[in-house]
Amino acid sequence: MVQHIVARYGEMSLKGKNRSDFERLLLRNIRAALRPWQGAKAERIAGRVLITLEDEQVEPVLERLRRVFGLTSLSPVEVVNLDLDAFRSAAIRVLQSSETPTGRPPTFKVEVKRTNKRFPLNSPQVADEVGGACLRALPQWRVDVHHPDVTVYIHIRDEEAHVYGRVVPGVGGMPAHSAGRAGLLLSGGIDSPVAGWLGMKRGVTLEAIHFHSFPFTSERALEKVETLAQILAGWGGRVTLHTVHFTDVQTAIRKHCPAPLYITIMRRMMLRIADRIARQRGLLALMTGESLGQVASQTLESMRTINAVTNLPVLRPLVGMDKVEIIRMAREIGTYDTSILPYEDCCTIFVPPNPRTKPSLEEAEAAEEPLPVDALVEDAVARTTMKTFHAEDSIAD
Ligand code: ATP
Ligand code: MG
Repeated sequence: MVQHIVARYGEMSLKGKNRSDFERLLLRNIRAALRPWQGAKAERIAGRVLITLEDEQVEPVLERLRRVFGLTSLSPVEVVNLDLDAFRSAAIRVLQSSETPTGRPPTFKVEVKRTNKRFPLNSPQVADEVGGACLRALPQWRVDVHHPDVTVYIHIRDEEAHVYGRVVPGVGGMPAHSAGRAGLLLSGGIDSPVAGWLGMKRGVTLEAIHFHSFPFTSERALEKVETLAQILAGWGGRVTLHTVHFTDVQTAIRKHCPAPLYITIMRRMMLRIADRIARQRGLLALMTGESLGQVASQTLESMRTINAVTNLPVLRPLVGMDKVEIIRMAREIGTYDTSILPYEDCCTIFVPPNPRTKPSLEEAEAAEEPLPVDALVEDAVARTTMKTFHAEDSIAD
């Protein structure tokens, strides 16, 4: 049986070419998300996308489309002719297939939207006609226009009408890959995957950059980061992961620099390496999972000192978020369970007993004097490996 889903998108403020680019990209992303369902088709209809399915696969397709950035809501719809009888029977089917409360009669209302002004009845007349037919066919139902259990929507369009009872929220945001590419400093922690997700939600294509310190950090710590990249790819379509071997840099810092500044200098080195990778790859910005005030390296003074090594914008989508909000979001996007696996991070094995919380730029520069910065950066970049993760690899159901 052929079935349909209407997908709606927002960002109504977009105008002109931006809007058509948005729509084109969104349609492409929807088609990519539908690839596992061979009979599924997506086409643009005025201000919406109509998805046509060959078999009864509505639920898994809805689940998948709820992960497509740019979509604000989704409804399984019945597409019917412009004919009052067709509206009536479709509305009755909507009520019959709805979940109803126990212990009291279920209630409904009919809401009509008429974009086709040539249709002979106006919206209130159609609502009356259809509501009356529902009451006659299903005498256990009552009308409640204020708090109905089910709303039957009828959208009268130029060529046909859509009748439906469910509106499922979409994830919102901008279509994946509409904003250009940025480098996400991805640790194995809770925060940076959430930061990357928020960037993707606004259309950023992610290239993750991970620093690991084999043999101080294990192969499993690296696998954990790969899993996180794969989960993010399930949202954004694809994520490229650059793995930087950071052991030599850390060893050099420990050899040449004062312990209270280890963390500051390590972060400056991370950012320098990320900056270099960004330039090689044509990335327009860097992103981190930093928030304000969480730890020693996340004071404003510290951010300024660390940030000074790059001219690229460093986006910090979590800057105003509390840890509980970040954790809730990590659960929602599916990264939390992986993030809390107990494998060591290259930073945690390197924390001095007394890190400076407000390192000045001058202090950091002086402390770095003995460090062969350029050679270390060059060497780390040269040994960086790259791997790309695709959505299809994780979502094949
Ligand atoms: P997260 O949960 O993302 O690790 P955090 O609260 O633990 O964040 P830090 O460990 O201080 O904070 O790291 C701050 C940010 O620095 C991270 O969000 C991430 O963007 C970056 N970062 C830290 N460690 C690494 C790493 N090993 N590889 C890549 N980026 C890292
Ligand atoms: Mg961390």
